Amino acid sequence: MRAASAYHVPDASGMIKLDAMENPFGWPAEMIAAWQARLREVELNRYPDPHARELVATLRTAMEIPAGAGVLLGNGSDELIQMIIMAVAAPGRCVLSLEPGFVMYRIISELCGVDYVGVALDENFALDLDVTLAAIAERQPAVIFIAWPNNPTGNLFDAEAIEQILAAAPGLVVVDEAYHVFAGRTFMPRLPYHPRLLVMRTVSKMGLAGLRLGLLAGDEALIHELDKVRLPYNINVLTQVTARFALEHGAVLEEQAATLRAERARVFDALARHPELKAFPSDANFILFRTPAATAIHGALKEAGILIKNLDGGASALRDCLRVTVGTREENDAFLAALDGALLAMHNEQEGAGT
Ligand SMILES: *Cc1c(COP(=O)(O)O)cnc(C)c1O
Repeated sequence: MRAASAYHVPDASGMIKLDAMENPFGWPAEMIAAWQARLREVELNRYPDPHARELVATLRTAMEIPAGAGVLLGNGSDELIQMIIMAVAAPGRCVLSLEPGFVMYRIISELCGVDYVGVALDENFALDLDVTLAAIAERQPAVIFIAWPNNPTGNLFDAEAIEQILAAAPGLVVVDEAYHVFAGRTFMPRLPYHPRLLVMRTVSKMGLAGLRLGLLAGDEALIHELDKVRLPYNINVLTQVTARFALEHGAVLEEQAATLRAERARVFDALARHPELKAFPSDANFILFRTPAATAIHGALKEAGILIKNLDGGASALRDCLRVTVGTREENDAFLAALDGALLAMHNEQEGAGT
């Protein structure tokens, strides 16, 4: 434990927060009033429904889960990742994922004492099928995690390549669809055809990050086994009631997602116009871009009151990379203006140093 470090979340008070893929929008006043009326009836003195049956029924419809599939809920999908890894953890087992990718797969594996195998994506962050299949054949992973779209790169891997991984995998394959509302693609309808496929979703990126609710769908017998790892009452009453309410008002969330998809295109075009930046196309609600002096740019943006994610200095494939979450039009304009300012200041400095 002394060699490990706790997951760090920077203080963002007073800043424009574009670092954590949150939805920037609130709810209309009448929707908040209706939600509060619903909350008034909640019995906080009672334990929540341990199986969250009403919420699961709502989620089955809202997320178009195939009839007959099992459903497991987590306190965020992070908890589901932890449950899956705890369920398979045993000497000699390993977890495999693609890199650069979502860091929790590795962090939770290490904390559970399970070997972690990171397979490199190619230089455009596409899935390298030959390399991945070779690693699967060699390491025989108990679980493969595939974030689709991927975080922090934002792209969707080739669906046919994922099918081939499913065919070759000796164990479970989790397709993590945290950004589903921004991508519109899903493996959910394929669940009945793949008994070892698990599809993971979360309500976090669609506008409910504060609730902490994730969902795992898959073969009923498999979900039944995974459920044994779950702590009782892991989904609290306020989350159960609120998530149901929000999903009943799904049109509001979908409209917000549509606005963010349009803003994503606008921010991408603005970034792509900068000759010295490279922006990577995204199917999520964030954009990864490479810039000279990324850490300095990140610091200058912070000075200007804008918090984005600095990935420079971590994995070498992410050298000079920054990740910005798509926000409201105003937030995105503030980010783009501050980025222009930082790049210009750096140019002037370089010219000053040259003369
Ligand atoms: C954000 C994210 C998650 C975690 O979601 P929570 O439900 O908030 O725990 C899982 N997977 C990926 C790929 C993510 O980007």
